[in-house]
Amino acid sequence: MYQLQEREAADLPLRRRCLRTPHKLFLLIGLILSFALFGADGEGAQTVYVANSGRSYHREGCGSLRRSKIAVTLADAVHSGYAPCSICKPPVLVRERDVPETANPPLYRVHRAPDPQSGEEGLGSYARADLRRMVRAEVVGHVDGDTVWVRIASGNGGTPAELRVVETVRLLGVDTPETVHPNRPVERFGKDAGDFTRERLFGRTVYLAFDWDLRDRYGRLLAYVYLSDGECFNALLIREGYAYAYTRFTFQFIDEFRSLEQEARSKRRGLWRTSGGDPGLPKPWVLWTLSGAPTSV
Ligand SMILES: [Zn+2]
Repeated sequence: MYQLQEREAADLPLRRRCLRTPHKLFLLIGLILSFALFGADGEGAQTVYVANSGRSYHREGCGSLRRSKIAVTLADAVHSGYAPCSICKPPVLVRERDVPETANPPLYRVHRAPDPQSGEEGLGSYARADLRRMVRAEVVGHVDGDTVWVRIASGNGGTPAELRVVETVRLLGVDTPETVHPNRPVERFGKDAGDFTRERLFGRTVYLAFDWDLRDRYGRLLAYVYLSDGECFNALLIREGYAYAYTRFTFQFIDEFRSLEQEARSKRRGLWRTSGGDPGLPKPWVLWTLSGAPTSV
């Protein structure tokens, strides 16, 4: 089998020209053998591990993975551009057919109003986004209330080329109180927001929709995260009073998110419970600028 592959690699055009029955038989035997050895999905289905940061994939138990590890298939790791770790020497793909198709389904970008450039109809509301067109992902970790790690699913249409297999997602249009913050009133609530996000999202399948900018300046994906029942988690965070509408930068659903925040304030939900919905309570990024950091960030 391996001999045949070497020949295939060396004489590919030649082989194509004179593919005769004995060769076909040989290929068939090879195929059956590889099924027996590696299963139907080939060796690309083997599990390797990546960390949220870093460009290498590893064997289970590699020292570089002590802090966090996310299981992915070997094929996905290779497809996403991860290189084998030089310390633990994980398996490498030798057969090109084990790398999944690099089909490039378009990312679903929401438009509130009709988009004159693409001619796409506007949604009008975040609640009308189309789950079927979104990228599917699994939440594999959380950083805080508004930032999670996801593993992008390689669906039937392949994985969008713009995405890595593991991504840090910053939820668009929301800001949860910082867990460590110079000012007092919001500190306690930062932990609650983080817990809420972890409870609702960790281990779940979610769907990602994007706005104008795919990433922020830290390289994090900017996304609306939808639950499988069609609920927009970004909106839910604000409506339940776990987050502010983050209006420092504009986004498609800014008006709706603003009114959700007003609603949460007036009903004294979550964050607004103790403040009495005080509209004068500074938002975290305002606090930050007040505490002496540069004003243009
Ligand atoms: Zn390693």
